[in-house]
Amino acid sequence: MFKVPPLQSDQKQQLANAIKARKSLEDAYESQFKILAQFVSRLSLVCKGVDIELDNRLAKLRNELAKGTDLEKLIPFINDTNQSLQLLEAKQQHDIKQVQHELNQAGKLLQQQKGLPDQLRRDLRALLTKVAEPPATVQAFLPHLTSLTALYQSALQAKQQLANTSDNDEVRYGHICRQISVELTNLLSELAFAEKSAPKIALIRQSLLNNLSIEALLDACLQTITIIVSSINEERQSAEHFLLKLNDALSSVQQAVSLTLKNADQLHVKLDILNQQIEQQITQLGHSTKSATSLEQLKELVTQRLQSISSSLKSKEILEAEERSAMLQTLNGMESRLEELEAEASIFRTKLAEQNFRSLQDALTEIPNRAAFDERLALEVKRWQRYKKPLCIALADVDHFKHINDNYGHSAGDKTLKVIAKALQQGLRETDFIARYGGEEFVILFPETALDELDGPLNKLREKIKSIVFTFKSQKVPITISIGASQLTTEDTSRQVFDRADEALYEAKKAGRDRVIIKT
Ligand code: GH3
Ligand code: MG
Ligand code: MG
Repeated sequence: MFKVPPLQSDQKQQLANAIKARKSLEDAYESQFKILAQFVSRLSLVCKGVDIELDNRLAKLRNELAKGTDLEKLIPFINDTNQSLQLLEAKQQHDIKQVQHELNQAGKLLQQQKGLPDQLRRDLRALLTKVAEPPATVQAFLPHLTSLTALYQSALQAKQQLANTSDNDEVRYGHICRQISVELTNLLSELAFAEKSAPKIALIRQSLLNNLSIEALLDACLQTITIIVSSINEERQSAEHFLLKLNDALSSVQQAVSLTLKNADQLHVKLDILNQQIEQQITQLGHSTKSATSLEQLKELVTQRLQSISSSLKSKEILEAEERSAMLQTLNGMESRLEELEAEASIFRTKLAEQNFRSLQDALTEIPNRAAFDERLALEVKRWQRYKKPLCIALADVDHFKHINDNYGHSAGDKTLKVIAKALQQGLRETDFIARYGGEEFVILFPETALDELDGPLNKLREKIKSIVFTFKSQKVPITISIGASQLTTEDTSRQVFDRADEALYEAKKAGRDRVIIKT
């Protein structure tokens, strides 16, 4: 049998040290395990209430931990809890999708409601964009849910206001009436009417700016249509008149020409006969001189023949003179007819040019209108495609313009718009293009200008308007504008760059007005 040799004293010492080290390691492990067990217990309590299955498993784990169960025996409990956690995570992912879907649906449903305030519509659109980005947790949806609830509340309040006055059509259809009145105002500024319709149009414009009842709006539409129809009739009559005159003149010229030709034919026949007569007379003169027997007879014969030749020549001369004078008369007649026609055509041309100019000019501010802008934009986009020079677009909108109308009247508002339009136009380079886009909104095209060159000029325009001293009812009223701008890119349609400038303008308004925002 193998016999264990007795330990030496230093070996004993080493063993004692080892036992001591192990003891302190075990103590440290035990206290760490305790801390960990406490932490897990606390954590499990925090998670409580999320899922019953998880709660049960965590309770069991907590229990075992409290008893100080060995780690090895704890492993099945930990595995169970892990499984629950995995299930819970999958469920959370599913829930996130579900909440996102529900929020989206609820938002879209609200969007479909008619008559929502513009601001609410914009905020809702912004919220739906945010909801479309998937967050990490369901909790992250909470602010969105709060916003959506607030939007629903405002929408309900707006509807409630409408419902309270539901017997009042003017309020119920206020939104659509405003839209129609804005469109009608734009239409009136784009159509070129005869000068004499101007006072009527001014009255219609004025009534459109007031708070419109449905009856008044329909009346304005009817009056506009009547003016358009009578203007078309006048145009047609004037064109018909011109064409009739043209036709008249052409047929009289044709008659004159054919008469001249006929006369010339007859004259040539007569001249031919006369020529033949003269020839015959000359031949006869020859014969007569040969047959004459005396000098006296010869003299008489020659005198006779010469007289008849001379009378034939005279007739010929008269005929030719007649032809010349008839021709001259016809030519004179034709010339005066042509002069008349030229005068008529020139009046017609001037009228067309005036009309063309008026149809591209805004009647109130006398700067180009929306139709002129559309035409110019198409041209600048073509140039941009060809020469690849940058092209920027800016939208300027007067801040709180409604206050001016409400507090000082529409004619003060009109005057303000005129002054602002003139100031903006004067503040631009000749190559830039400004138009009144409608209402108190102006659009500016900056050809051959990049976005980073725009901040200076746009802020100068903004400051320029701000520095104008407007005085209403002997009160000094500061007026400011907000501007949004963007640059056309290769991925853009002209509509897209316009919309981007509009978004920038909206941001400028939201950020407090009286500012320029440039969007790439
Ligand atoms: P914001 O700063 O948000 O642009 O406020 P705002 O008051 O300027 O905007 P809102 O669109 O609410 O009002 C524009 C007003 O402009 C309403 C309309 O009566 C007025 N308006 C539009 N065209 C004319 C016009 O030709 N003459 C006058 N006097 N007012 C006009
Ligand atoms: Mg405005
Ligand atoms: Mg506006």
